[in-house]
Amino acid sequence: MKYIMVTGGVMSGLGKGITSASIGRLLVEMGYRVVPIKIDPYINIDAGTMNPFQHGEVYVLKDGTEVDLDLGHYERFIGVELTGDHNITTGKIYRNVIEKERKGEYLGQTVQIIPHVTDEIKSWIRRVAKENDAEICLVEIGGTVGDIEGMPFLEAIRQMRNEEKPEDFLLVHVTLVPLDSSGEQKTKPTQHSVKELRSIGLQPDVIVGRCARRLEEGTKRKISLFCDVPVEAVISAEDASDIYEVPLMFRDEGLDDYILSKLKLEKREPSGEWERMVEKLRSLEDEVTIAVVGKYVDVQDSYLSIREALKHGGIEAGCKVRILWIDSEELEKAGDVEIDADGILVPGGFGKRGAEGKIKAIEYARENDIPFLGICFGFQLAVIEFARHVIGWEDANSSELAETEHAVIDLLPEQKEIDELGGTMRLGDIEVTIKPGTMAMKLYGREKIYERHRHRYEVNPDFISEFEKYGLIFSGYSDGGRRMEIMEYPKNKFFFGTQFHPEFKSRPYSPSPPFVGFVKAAYGVEI
Ligand code: GLN
Repeated sequence: MKYIMVTGGVMSGLGKGITSASIGRLLVEMGYRVVPIKIDPYINIDAGTMNPFQHGEVYVLKDGTEVDLDLGHYERFIGVELTGDHNITTGKIYRNVIEKERKGEYLGQTVQIIPHVTDEIKSWIRRVAKENDAEICLVEIGGTVGDIEGMPFLEAIRQMRNEEKPEDFLLVHVTLVPLDSSGEQKTKPTQHSVKELRSIGLQPDVIVGRCARRLEEGTKRKISLFCDVPVEAVISAEDASDIYEVPLMFRDEGLDDYILSKLKLEKREPSGEWERMVEKLRSLEDEVTIAVVGKYVDVQDSYLSIREALKHGGIEAGCKVRILWIDSEELEKAGDVEIDADGILVPGGFGKRGAEGKIKAIEYARENDIPFLGICFGFQLAVIEFARHVIGWEDANSSELAETEHAVIDLLPEQKEIDELGGTMRLGDIEVTIKPGTMAMKLYGREKIYERHRHRYEVNPDFISEFEKYGLIFSGYSDGGRRMEIMEYPKNKFFFGTQFHPEFKSRPYSPSPPFVGFVKAAYGVEI
């Protein structure tokens, strides 16, 4: 097994996730079997309870684990489907260690960070690498070198380096190369963060320098000299016009060749799938504007997968997608609503804040026949909007938001008994059945699909026949027909909603069908 470890220095937000995902992409392009693991040194067991304002989007894996958005980058770039096993947190490691201690597995020893916690970390990494039948295991250590939370993980990696053969282990360190006021590239922060790494016994093999501009030869030489890596192992990562350019940028820098030679792996002809996709992306000229109406629009990472899925839909439809972020709370306060966009998307969400603003946006889309896509909460709010303004139940609502006679969105009876927060959340891949002769069938082209879920509330089955009388169709269902999964309104060009989150399965080279349909409708081409 070959291990590539990715650490970060200087500060967070340098794009370590994209760097790791891009390395993974270069290797899978050559046919290598790569398994990624993300280490999040926080104490939470997973990201399920984390606030998108603080952390960006919560990404959902097929097994229902809620994780950091970097796992989304891995899935999109590397083309793998991951599970909770691929996300190690301090919480999970300590939970295992404490459970073992309680069972007496440590035979009366004092349980310590070294060796017990570090052993747990190493055996987790090795187990996942082996179980996934990988040739290369790519491990990203979240946070910045020097953070107290990250120490046990870096120590585990230091031990692994000694235990593995030199040609089986590679450490990539991502740092910042800032520009000073005269535009000179400064290497001191990089030198310091490498010093920090060395103080815990780790020497990087490759240094990726993030900079607004391409690293100059002189800058590379300086980093090479001070940090003891060959010049060809100093890789420039300048700001890219699109994150999908990064693997190709790394290839131009010779990163793939360097990794292969260090790990003693043969160079293989790349499949070219990624390059073809990027060329398509570069060639797009026309542009459509999609309004995304949400609560977290100031933190655009909160809707990262949606942004990516719209881009994927655009590649397929033949147009660029510009996103117009609209704050649902502002919309709520506004009088008359006017949205100047080719399509309107209402994403997932929780709670009352801004919900009425989203409903206004949906009403505007439906009445003006503007292509609409509602996802999860957006789907539920579209059902509410329809109940209020087409059927005429003015009090229609979701029981998540208000108590009402027309709770068209509600908990199922068995869920009402369990009220612990998150206790009834329906998560992960679930089979959905699509009805023939519908827009959903046209888009997916098959009867059974698997999509990722993250919700608690459902369309109330008591009202379904009434909706259908007024022309709203539930074209996809699950759980033997008890739960509605897709809605569409054939009177409009494209008015479509899903209870699940199709954005999580969208890939740049294999876009999600609802996003393709939506962007095509917005662009005005045939679906
Ligand atoms: N709040 C809604 C529910 O719990 C929708 C959740 C979501 O959009 N992810 O069902």
